[in-house]
Amino acid sequence: MRVPFLAANWKMNMGRQAARELVQGLMETCAQVEGREMAICPPFHLLADIEKLVEGRPQVYLGAQDMYWQDSGAFTGEISAPMLLDVGCRVVIIGHSERRAMFGETDETCAKKVAAAVKHQLIPILCVGESLEEREQGLTEKVVTSQLHGALDGLEISDGRQLIIAYEPIWAIGTGKTDTPQAANETMQTLRQTLAQIFNEEIAQGVRLLYGGSVKPENIAGFMATSDIDGALVGGASLKPSFAQIVNY
Ligand code: PEP
Repeated sequence: MRVPFLAANWKMNMGRQAARELVQGLMETCAQVEGREMAICPPFHLLADIEKLVEGRPQVYLGAQDMYWQDSGAFTGEISAPMLLDVGCRVVIIGHSERRAMFGETDETCAKKVAAAVKHQLIPILCVGESLEEREQGLTEKVVTSQLHGALDGLEISDGRQLIIAYEPIWAIGTGKTDTPQAANETMQTLRQTLAQIFNEEIAQGVRLLYGGSVKPENIAGFMATSDIDGALVGGASLKPSFAQIVNY
């Protein structure tokens, strides 16, 4: 019922030529795979180029790494949901831990961004996850449920496909360390129960839950074999042609 979703977060990497070559290659090596979907979330300056390369492939989603909640106006340096739609985006990452840690993103700003994205029929990929200190103190569940409530309470959706959640333990992002599939799956179950409280059981069953944190071709299958992990949000390993092996796990 939940189609696997493999998303590339390029962060602040890639120039136009390298991006074109990588996406052209990926369109040959993995875009034809049946029964799963993939997303490419490049920096803003590459969106228009990549829109052309993924055109006509509904299973390949173009995405942004952030957006502002207002539609337009005097907000220097920001980009809005209508602008992202204009360039072909269908998903947008919200509340990545790097934005929370370095750029002042909070649950409150995430809530406004998620609501604006949903209003414009962009699918938010809302990121949650605990720090190493919180993990060591046994606070993972408390932290991620609070982040979900903080960003989603009051949101109205009618279908779980309108929302994607990425659970990314901060200590696993870009470090080469990963959560175990079993532990990550337990956290996912907590997230799904929380979604059922916020929305309802049917919607919760339809929301795709992605694991993120040093996913590679070698470890993706273990995560995908669990009951509640529906895909991955991939940073470093999405910058190489071998990202196709993650999509084709
Ligand atoms: C990310 O940026 O969301 C991420 C999970 O990065 P990495 O795969 O490099 O750990």
